[in-house]
Amino acid sequence: MNSIQGELERELGRLRAQNLWRALRCVDSPQGIRISVHGRTLTNFSSNDYLGLANDPALKEAAIRAIERYGVGTGASRLICGSLAPFHELETKLAAFKKTEAALAFASGYAAALGTICSLVGPSDVVILDKWVHASIVDAARLSGAKLRVFPHNDLADLEEILQWARRRDDQTGSRRGRILIVTESVFSMDGDSAPLRDLVLLKEQYGAWLMVDEAHATGILGPHGAGLADELALGDRIEVQMGTLGKALGTAGGFICGSRQLIDLLINRARSFIFSTAPTPAAAAAAAVAIEIVQSKAGEDRRRVLHCRVRQLQLRLNAGIGSGETNCRAAIVPWMIGPEARAVVVARRLCDQGYYVPAVRYPTVRRGQARLRFTLSALHQEEDIEGLARALSEAAADS
Ligand SMILES: *Cc1c(COP(=O)(O)O)cnc(C)c1O
Repeated sequence: MNSIQGELERELGRLRAQNLWRALRCVDSPQGIRISVHGRTLTNFSSNDYLGLANDPALKEAAIRAIERYGVGTGASRLICGSLAPFHELETKLAAFKKTEAALAFASGYAAALGTICSLVGPSDVVILDKWVHASIVDAARLSGAKLRVFPHNDLADLEEILQWARRRDDQTGSRRGRILIVTESVFSMDGDSAPLRDLVLLKEQYGAWLMVDEAHATGILGPHGAGLADELALGDRIEVQMGTLGKALGTAGGFICGSRQLIDLLINRARSFIFSTAPTPAAAAAAAVAIEIVQSKAGEDRRRVLHCRVRQLQLRLNAGIGSGETNCRAAIVPWMIGPEARAVVVARRLCDQGYYVPAVRYPTVRRGQARLRFTLSALHQEEDIEGLARALSEAAADS
């Protein structure tokens, strides 16, 4: 007993010493642009609820109706005790939204990545990742047992070399052509930049590889109806696997995969994170179905327009006042590079003292020595919120 506590305490001490210690902060308000933390109201620049739907009255009403009709629990995995109607309604809406044949809802985006990649590739296959993909994809690729290769962020020349290697490997091993699965994101979660999706599609077609695109940060944000980058570029039907989460712009929680009927049937039969896990709540599914409608509507378009305006405003202020702001205006993520973990923590704490809740993103989310503040914006932020943040940041960063 004592030996485990002592050993873990030493490990925690090392985290503290490296400024990598993290702790939960209890919030006793809904997610929104103002949150209440230990009795203080802070302006929130940390949430992925980009369109401000997490506390939206229409979503809440749908969730309440679903609870009244279906209860709160789901009893078991959907394959065991029956699959509640709200999941089927959600999946029909998701497939129409993403213009695919079918869709499957998972308990989270993390579970979707894990279940899907492990269903598609195994030890005789190759999985190739962009260096910056989300941890869920890295974990999935490792767990799959496939040969794992990583290319430098968005570097298609390097990706092509790996594809050539993978095909040569086939020729050497003879008979069966192993599968090659490339996985990337459309909008990257830490820097808000995007993948060169058109060229990626051409390349994977040339080498007979499959492509999986995680649209976690593009869903609801990019494309004429908010369906993401693949839809904006009309590439949806050339991408084998489209992944997303319900937990960001769609305001609820859960993950999903969209693709062909065969892909979805295979996942129902093979994805262990789907098969061996209790179905998520019907309330979340019902709320997400309403979120998809809002995102595609005029109201969704209006929210996207305001959001992009606020992002632009913050980027201009960062570039003008303090420097080093990124100029990608399309995602709702505005990173501000700091470098040393200790300094990121200090600046974030000072911002918090001034009433702004902003995460100091550190290792292992990003590489060591590349700590940053990550501002995420919402369509509900007002111009004054952005101005106030920019002012507070120039003070907070002045002498740290
Ligand atoms: C958030 C995120 C996930 C995980 O989705 P959850 O629904 O939060 O589990 C997967 N991929 C990316 C790129 C993400 O940002």
